[in-house]
Amino acid sequence: MSRFQVRKVAVLGAGVMGAQIAAHLVNVKVPVVLFDLPAKEGPKNGIVAKAIDGLKKLKPAPLGDVADAALIQQANYEEHLELLKDCDLIIEAIAERMDWKLDLYKKIAPFVSPNAIVASNTSGLSITKLAEVLPEELKPRFCGIHFFNPPRYMYLVELINTPTTRPEVIDQLESFVTSAVGKGVVRANDTPNFVANRVGIAGMMATMIEAEKFGLSVDLVDDLTGKKLGRASSGTFRTADVVGLDTMAHVMKTMQDNLQSDPFYSMYATPKVLATLIEKGALGQKSGGGFYKKVGKDIQRLDFATGEYVAGGKKADEIVARMLKKPAAERIKLLRESTNPQAQFLWSILRDSFHYVAVHLDTVADTAREIDFAMRWGFGSSQGPFELWQQAGWKQVAEWVKEDIAAGKTLSSAVLPAWVFEGPVADNGGVHSAAGSWSAAEGKFKARAELPVYQRQAFPESLFGEGAAEPLKAGTELFKNEEVRVWTLDGEVLIASITAKLHLISPTVTEGLLKAVEIAEAGYKGLVIWSPDDVFSAGANLEALMPVFMTKGAKGIAPEEKKLQDMMLRLRYANVPVVAAMRGLALGGGAELAVHCARRVAHMESYVGLVEVGVGLIPGGGGLTYIARRAAEMAAAGNANADIFMFLKDGFTTAATAKVATSALEARKNGFLLDSDVVVPNKDELLFVATAQAKAMFDSGYRAPLRAKFPVAGRSGIATIKGQLANMRDGGFISAHDFHLASLIADVVCGGAVEAGSLVDEEYLMALERKHFCSLLEHPKTQERIMGMLQTGKPVRN
Ligand code: NAD
Repeated sequence: MSRFQVRKVAVLGAGVMGAQIAAHLVNVKVPVVLFDLPAKEGPKNGIVAKAIDGLKKLKPAPLGDVADAALIQQANYEEHLELLKDCDLIIEAIAERMDWKLDLYKKIAPFVSPNAIVASNTSGLSITKLAEVLPEELKPRFCGIHFFNPPRYMYLVELINTPTTRPEVIDQLESFVTSAVGKGVVRANDTPNFVANRVGIAGMMATMIEAEKFGLSVDLVDDLTGKKLGRASSGTFRTADVVGLDTMAHVMKTMQDNLQSDPFYSMYATPKVLATLIEKGALGQKSGGGFYKKVGKDIQRLDFATGEYVAGGKKADEIVARMLKKPAAERIKLLRESTNPQAQFLWSILRDSFHYVAVHLDTVADTAREIDFAMRWGFGSSQGPFELWQQAGWKQVAEWVKEDIAAGKTLSSAVLPAWVFEGPVADNGGVHSAAGSWSAAEGKFKARAELPVYQRQAFPESLFGEGAAEPLKAGTELFKNEEVRVWTLDGEVLIASITAKLHLISPTVTEGLLKAVEIAEAGYKGLVIWSPDDVFSAGANLEALMPVFMTKGAKGIAPEEKKLQDMMLRLRYANVPVVAAMRGLALGGGAELAVHCARRVAHMESYVGLVEVGVGLIPGGGGLTYIARRAAEMAAAGNANADIFMFLKDGFTTAATAKVATSALEARKNGFLLDSDVVVPNKDELLFVATAQAKAMFDSGYRAPLRAKFPVAGRSGIATIKGQLANMRDGGFISAHDFHLASLIADVVCGGAVEAGSLVDEEYLMALERKHFCSLLEHPKTQERIMGMLQTGKPVRN
């Protein structure tokens, strides 16, 4: 059977989106060629080259490793169209003009290879209309691929087919975008603005209208419609500022131009305040002002009445904030019944969103699942509108919406569709069921797509009402304490999930992991350390050690620390492979845990670093021992005379400056990941890949590394580092305490006061770690840093 393969991708258009899409393809190791118009002056690739250069400075960083910018191949339409012949996927992301896009399609058509997929990233144009100019043989391979900005970080990609798109083509694309690019795919119908922007921007417009009705200021609305409501923390108006008010207006215009017969049409008018801001050139964050403006250190808000910027920061009434913490059914009832205008406003916008999605479900998407996922992945909501409605009590909420429609309180007089009140949805109590999600167009529940790629996701994101297995309750449980669950899904590989807050490593976690190794060795092929959320481990749990410290002082800590170190070595020398499935934060003790595993399988978005100096400590769970050992290993792998010190410098600096890698790719550069480790683009495939790795290692005859002594840089290494540190201290670049911390780190990574080349073992280095770690606990400056961090969550510089 031939398999669809994407050997290379062409991205057409090196603007905001095209350049960043190209960058993300490089992140996930897909070869990419980026095209733009030929420059009128200078080198013909000038426009593309400038765009690629811009990627290196852009925040948040589109590239996992800025050096990878060089891997994006540069091209222009005048000289390089031939390059398209090698591409299996062509993503068009040029300016949003139908005529320009059509011209470009005509130009590239002769160069598109016979099986290549061509897809447009348009936000607002009809994919079906774009397809019309294509040669017949290309039409079955054309569709929409709608990335969200910034494409590296936004999980959502909408795929849109036309009546002529061949179904296998879009399935192939969905598989590639999910697994190789690491995204969450939503299939959208070819209706204006597709799903996320249609529902999301309509929701923002409704919010603006209701805010005006209730006379609420932008800062208050944002506080009410942000985290407290389970939505993106930037709320409504700040989100608009971030997106860009001109972009918002553009999306609105698409609705104004194309949705004349929509029952919500009157809601699509550009709000006057938005039009005025745009006229003034206040386009939001990019122009320095919008609904908010930064004035000195303050963020001021727009006052609707006067058009002036005034002091902001207004927060929700305490009573409303409390209502928002209640379970869904109670929350919505309280909001609706309250006479507080803020609560009334919140009920109104929720009601408007339920009303809107119910009326539009049959046209914008195949099922309710698409709408809910689009709102989660494209707008940062913790729940989509349908699942919230379902959770709050389908029938009751439906009645309330109906009442408000009848009372003329809603933004459209359109009645709710009949399926809301009778038939399978009403019987089920909502649109999501074990059989699938409701398709209003087809009048039935439809199961999820069964593409093979989804079998790689043991626990895909699930919606309320689907009754999906919960990872921390699934499988067979073999051991559990308060902070670790040890279980298996397949009976072959054991899984240890840390359940503590931020997965901080406490003595309880240590105990759980030790137990896990024991069980794994007795009857499993390997152990995977994995948790179903986006943190691997934020470090050691300092608070858990407080009572010991208070009663016994630093001396009491040493044995606890030794237990932690012993656990690390136990993982490293286990008879079965231990695999760290990393995602999100792996800091301090979390990074130490990862490096002591036999292998790491890391999601692209892994943030790894030894950050202990931030709290006035040094890595004391084997992190520095690891740096010393790796330096010796690298020196040994190079040439026999290689100086260990050369390999030590980077590791030392990483620990001494608490450098945190901002991607798995950077973590590899910083020495936390090895070449043999695996980087996984899709977060939901992490467990699958880690398990596969553990099995493959076991099946290939895995044996733990032999315990060996290795050479260290010794006294002379310490002297060299300290010489440089003294210069930095004397030059005022680092504080005296930083100097002290860095000197202690140097002492451990160089193996203490021994001759260069002396052979040491891990236990010896770990004893040095302990000695310095405990001495620091008694240091007043360190105590200041720890207390500061525990109290404010921010590092203290002293
Ligand atoms: P942009 O203005 O930043 O870049 C457009 C690029 O198109 C430029 O590099 C320009 O040189 C090139 N271009 C202009 N005219 C051209 C022509 N006649 N032929 C070939 N190339 C030409 O635009 P953008 O924001 O990156 O948007 C690109 C596409 O992506 C649009 O269709 C837009 O709707 C869509 N989109 C944008 C966003 C966003 O947030 N910006 C999000 C999703 C989708």
